[in-house]
Amino acid sequence: MLNETAYALGANRSVIRDLFEYGRQRAAIVGAENVFDYSLGNPSIPAPPEVNDAIRDALERYDSLALHGYTSAVGDLETRQAIADDLNARYNAGAAPEEVFIGCGAAAELAATFQALAFPGAEILAIAPYFPEYQPFVEHAGATFRVVPPDVPDFQIRLEAVEEMLHPNTAALILNSPNNPAGTVYTRRTLEALAALLRRKAAEYGRPIYIVADEPYRELVYDGAEVPFLPAIYPDTVVCYSYSKSLSLPGQRIGYIYVPAAAADSKALYTAIAGASRAAGHVCAPALMQKVIARCAHLRPDLDAYDKNRQALYQGLRACGYEVAKPEGAFYLFVKVPCRDSQDFFRRAKARDLLLVPGDGFGCPGYFRICYCVSHDTILRSLPVFQALKQEVS
Ligand code: PLP
Repeated sequence: MLNETAYALGANRSVIRDLFEYGRQRAAIVGAENVFDYSLGNPSIPAPPEVNDAIRDALERYDSLALHGYTSAVGDLETRQAIADDLNARYNAGAAPEEVFIGCGAAAELAATFQALAFPGAEILAIAPYFPEYQPFVEHAGATFRVVPPDVPDFQIRLEAVEEMLHPNTAALILNSPNNPAGTVYTRRTLEALAALLRRKAAEYGRPIYIVADEPYRELVYDGAEVPFLPAIYPDTVVCYSYSKSLSLPGQRIGYIYVPAAAADSKALYTAIAGASRAAGHVCAPALMQKVIARCAHLRPDLDAYDKNRQALYQGLRACGYEVAKPEGAFYLFVKVPCRDSQDFFRRAKARDLLLVPGDGFGCPGYFRICYCVSHDTILRSLPVFQALKQEVS
């Protein structure tokens, strides 16, 4: 006898992982240069040099026991202070270290936050297209996962659809901007209108409706796009931040949860997040990485390589007639399948070793995601393949 749900989650590999594995097999047969693998969101720019310097310095500066020992479960004070300082310098947030919980990346942070928010009968809403892992995290927390339909073609937020789905049992709405998979950034106008709606409904229900801001891509924006600081617009916000993408550290598992003091029941919520993390086996985030973040929290990535890829792909795809959402952030493009039969399109793409992730898993069939964390050369060589594919299905 086993836990069936856990078994099913382990047994059903994600489409993205399957594609990635397939790409590796094909590379062994036809050569890596002939496989256009746009499947996986693994950063392709190196961590800033200051990160490696901070690791070397930590090895010199601390004795082994201090460096490798357990930290407090909520994280080192020095690190939480550095994160609060960064939030204050950038957003005048008024953040204090007591409002910051150091976590092991956004995935674990989201899972703990959903658990903390999931009162009996709670519903948690996501906006399509959305990061597929939300569903298992929410359901594991015992809440009902509900999806607000997408706002095509701009991928902002359909407020009337949110309003229809809000319910006295709505505990939270997940917002992910810059967005995976759409690459879009929610505008200040969208967010202010959403905040007004949530405030009105929360007052009507007599209880808070939280925003859970999933922000691994906060720093990855182009063309000067603004990513508004959500707690300043809507105080009942919990921010789940990660250094996986901003500092290219996905394997090191480090980020933070920010529960602003102004959020409803903020102290209790912070305590519940700590409790949910404890129940999930969290002991502390990696000690060495905490020391690195204490020195590097203020760093921003150099986005030139992503931006170059983004522009070449966006312009190239549009030139061959694909419809693409305007990609202002993250490292994804979300493209409309240019024919009626999506399955046929994906089969044909795969036959050309063009590995695209179908939109179905993101709650948005009829689209596909391109992750452009690849070499610029791959992008340039893939454009004629996209063009031939488009002609084949048109
Ligand atoms: N949220 C989104 C939207 C993501 O795309 C990812 C990873 O790709 C995560 C959360 C999880 O990131 P982390 O590595 O910080 O756990």
